[in-house]
Amino acid sequence: MKNKKLYTLLEQNDTQELHLFNSWKDENGTCKVESNSLCNGMHFSEKADTPLFVCEDEENTRILCATRGRALCEKCIAQLYKSEKAAHLDLSLQED
Ligand SMILES: [Zn+2]
Repeated sequence: MKNKKLYTLLEQNDTQELHLFNSWKDENGTCKVESNSLCNGMHFSEKADTPLFVCEDEENTRILCATRGRALCEKCIAQLYKSEKAAHLDLSLQED
């Protein structure tokens, strides 16, 4: 059974920019993180020690990101909202 989509937010050491990574939980419930950010602008190995959040679902990710302000990578956020288009929360007109 596939887990639903999760996200992890990491700080890039050099730039202090915050990037989102696709995440999932393995069979032991351990959070796994993709090696490149949604925007491909940051690699996992570039992360700072600052604890942000790991393995949050899409809704929580949006809420948590909204409190982070401008340090967030715009490209990653754009990717996050792009994936939302398929969700039932989409505010645009419904079409067949
Ligand atoms: Zn990014």
